[in-house]
Amino acid sequence: MNIIILGAPGAGKGTQSQFLIDLFKLKHLSTGDMLRAEIEAATELGMQAKSIMDTGELVSDSIVIRMIKERLTREGILFDGFPRTLNQAQELDKLMIANNMEIDKVILLEVDNEEIIQRMLARGRADDNETTIRNRLQVYNQQTAPLIDYYEKQNKLARIDGMGEVDTISKRIEQAMQF
Ligand code: AMP
Repeated sequence: MNIIILGAPGAGKGTQSQFLIDLFKLKHLSTGDMLRAEIEAATELGMQAKSIMDTGELVSDSIVIRMIKERLTREGILFDGFPRTLNQAQELDKLMIANNMEIDKVILLEVDNEEIIQRMLARGRADDNETTIRNRLQVYNQQTAPLIDYYEKQNKLARIDGMGEVDTISKRIEQAMQF
């Protein structure tokens, strides 16, 4: 079972990823976590990525695709924060085909803009100041939102109401996974 969790920054992808990982015993591949680990380790890649992440822009497709390639496994994967561009989605499809794997479901967490800004300000991460938040939302709408259509056309998209209590949202996801 391979699942993608999609949604604006602050939509609750991290929290609901953990739920899906426990439910289906998946390996968590979060490109954001990988990039933060690179920053923590002060690698050259980390240094380059940090300046981009601090503005809320996306790091290059080639970097994240390479990181995903290096960690691909047949055990079942939860993709979190990847893909984020159409090019990344197409590259992921190619990678899946080449490895005889496939994406089974794409969970889209839908949350109001206002709620997203409140959640992100509350979480207080380094790249969560108000200017960056606004830019990250714009980047999401311009570069990532087209993936909704992409996966809808593949009949893989499940739209989940991401408003409300964490457990309620998890139950909605669990229901959508009964296919
Ligand atoms: P996240 O933790 O998923 O919100 O990611 C934090 C930041 O890392 C993003 O704002 C981007 O700058 C960068 N990032 C994470 N995943 C990707 C990706 N798939 N493509 C490009 N940039 C990414």
